[in-house]
Amino acid sequence: MKITDSYEGTIERTLFTEDEISAAISRLATQIAEDYSGQPLTLLGVLKGALYVIADLARALSAVPGGPSEIIVDYLCVSSYGNSTRSSGEVRLLKDASVQITGRNVVIVEDIVDNGLTLSYLRSLLEERRPASLRSCVLFDKPYHRRIDVPVEYVGLQTPDAFVVGYGLDYQELFRNLPYLAQLRPSAFTEG
Ligand code: 5GP
Repeated sequence: MKITDSYEGTIERTLFTEDEISAAISRLATQIAEDYSGQPLTLLGVLKGALYVIADLARALSAVPGGPSEIIVDYLCVSSYGNSTRSSGEVRLLKDASVQITGRNVVIVEDIVDNGLTLSYLRSLLEERRPASLRSCVLFDKPYHRRIDVPVEYVGLQTPDAFVVGYGLDYQELFRNLPYLAQLRPSAFTEG
């Protein structure tokens, strides 16, 4: 039995397959490569959710001819959901980036944007460090409950209005290792 088989009874439906996610990452890489052609670029992944996006995007970018002149990959770690499916509305920085971004072109790489608070918090935090440019890339966009109109320059796929898991996204720390994006059955949720 594969480890992902044990998730079977809890998954309502697949929203995006591995191939669809991979195609979206390639499209994002092509756009970013064009915009930063010949320039150095720092990618800042937002963990834990963006662990696969940042790895796959960085590799896809390296494969595009005429892309950035150099790519630095770093990450920071934030928490806003805890063990719940609802954002606490309070973003906590658990680990900061370890590279200097002053004077650099920076792209924040997020798994998903929902109410926008996390990206907005990160953009303000990083703007204070005076990067040469700052943009955001999100693989999944949930545009239904924005609380802040935060700019997102690169968007991969739009999800339905549901709590989603897989490809780095968790529910109570499980499901991150699913290679596709899925919606859980209501019975999977233990919170009231
Ligand atoms: P926001 O601050 O925009 O509401 O949410 C950003 C963060 O909340 C994401 O980085 C992600 O960790 C988490 N998040 C938002 N929507 C979902 C979802 O549908 N599923 C999961 N697993 N996490 C989500």
